[in-house]
Amino acid sequence: MKMSKMFMPTLREVPAEAVVASHRLMMRSGMLRKLGNGLFTYLPLGLRSFRKVENIIREEMDAAGALEFKPSVVVPGEIWRESGRWETMGEGMLRVKNRVDQELVVSPTAEEAFTALLRGEISSYKQLPMNAYQINTKYRDEIRPRYGVMRGREFTMKDAYSFHADEESLDETYRAMGKAYRRIFRRCGLSVIPVKADSGAMGGTGSEEFMVESEVGDNNLILCPKCGYAANDEKASCAPDPVTSGPGSAPAGKAFSPVETPNVRTIEELTAFLKTVPQAFIKTLVYRAVNSELDLSSAPGCAKLDRVTPASSPAYYPESFFAVCVRGDLDVNEVKLAATVKASEVELASDRDVERLTGAPVGFAGPVGLSSVPVIADLSVTAMHDAVTGALKADLHYEHVEPGRDFTPWLTADVRTVKAGDRCPVCGDAFYAKKGNELGHIFKLGYKYTKSMNMLYLDENGKQQYPMMGCYGIGVDRTLASIIEEHNDDDGILWPMSVAPFQVAVVPIKYEGAMKDAADRLYAELSAAGIEALLDDRNERPGVKFKDMDLVGIPVRIVVGDKNLPNVELKLRSSKDASLIPLEGAAAKAAEIVRASLAELSAPSGED
Ligand SMILES: [Zn+2]
Repeated sequence: MKMSKMFMPTLREVPAEAVVASHRLMMRSGMLRKLGNGLFTYLPLGLRSFRKVENIIREEMDAAGALEFKPSVVVPGEIWRESGRWETMGEGMLRVKNRVDQELVVSPTAEEAFTALLRGEISSYKQLPMNAYQINTKYRDEIRPRYGVMRGREFTMKDAYSFHADEESLDETYRAMGKAYRRIFRRCGLSVIPVKADSGAMGGTGSEEFMVESEVGDNNLILCPKCGYAANDEKASCAPDPVTSGPGSAPAGKAFSPVETPNVRTIEELTAFLKTVPQAFIKTLVYRAVNSELDLSSAPGCAKLDRVTPASSPAYYPESFFAVCVRGDLDVNEVKLAATVKASEVELASDRDVERLTGAPVGFAGPVGLSSVPVIADLSVTAMHDAVTGALKADLHYEHVEPGRDFTPWLTADVRTVKAGDRCPVCGDAFYAKKGNELGHIFKLGYKYTKSMNMLYLDENGKQQYPMMGCYGIGVDRTLASIIEEHNDDDGILWPMSVAPFQVAVVPIKYEGAMKDAADRLYAELSAAGIEALLDDRNERPGVKFKDMDLVGIPVRIVVGDKNLPNVELKLRSSKDASLIPLEGAAAKAAEIVRASLAELSAPSGED
């Protein structure tokens, strides 16, 4: 490609809203322009890299045995009603009505579309397993789109959906996808952190997220420096704490006793009042669970709850209350808590409910003698001795409380928020924390969609069965932006060879006379060798040309100057040093660098 024929409007100034490197550099280098809030146009330069990321994903999906489809982006609303997600996806889904009042959805994801398609096609176990994928446009109505294509409203995603006759088959495909994902990100030059993730609203168990470190990431990652343990803080667990003792280190066998604590409610006030440390307190919080599958009224003393028993899903209790105990210096993690009580969500009970259930104002709840709600104790509590708790009465606490002796939790579970400094459950080293962005996600969905959408096949015995399902996504735009985030310096982008818009830049100091002849020759030789070259044939000052090439970040640069001919200057974008080499053979040398670099990025690694 010659620069004079290319459209790549570079910018000196960038809009103030471009606060992350990738957004800034994509705007400045002429890869991208904004069309509306969260809506972007890739310009020709940006699209070249975009297509390369897409093709790496495509090659690895094909190699892993997945089959590419191309469903429509606009899909009927009725399939979303069938799966039940018409309601649960909420405002994030863009819904429209057409001229005959038919409900339509602009796909935010495609579990429904693939299940609806394949239930009509797959009728026998002989057709399973099947792994179907698309690389297609999606739309999610983000409340606050930002960071350019990192969090846009319209985006491109590779999403795959696999269907299986049994769990072993699902496991096999799940593992193959995990392996393919590691290869995809490695080929893109990205360092990803595979993280065991909470499946959240997607449902099902068994999932892994592929994260990149990012200052503006929307995930908090808990990482172990020693053994590589990595988890989202919504799911992270930690090693049990050493046994902690209370203020007085009461001699064994000392009974718990009340202590007057007038107007003392918070842990801070209590710590000051009793002259001790927050670790000596058992904090007790009352929660309300929404749609819990656990019968939280099965504890003695609890009032019986109303149960809903739908035909297709497990029975649940629309509203139930419970208490959670955690060591005074720790926080309760509501995602872990909701998973523990199998609820769609948990929230702190209102002050009125707390008073009604504990008989005391907020701030005086405690597990001793509490029978109106079941008590869930965090693992941190079981290691405590000689603790202080609320006494279920205004202005009163108990001292010398022994968990297990003075109260028995209905359930003991890991429900605390894990933080930097907590200990790794695998090796015991201290955690550190980082923010991360999710690039890819693989899930085992189980029967969630095949059951709700009634997809059936005949097994070996001629019996009707629901297939098991897995799903596997990668955000293409976000992957591209993350590559730029990881590979840039003050002058611009440093593309990994595999995703560079062009591989070699040919820059004549002036496009005339012997310099033009040499540049044309290099360009012709590179093109003939299958190398993607960009020839800067513009009538610009050399300084401007060099600045633009550094900004655009083409990995190899050959400068043709009349002072050096018959030698030319070869320089890598990633290196400060240039070398003079003969024009004769310079294209071959550049081609060799390109091929070696591509081979290195796609070489198998120990992970494979
Ligand atoms: Zn560890």
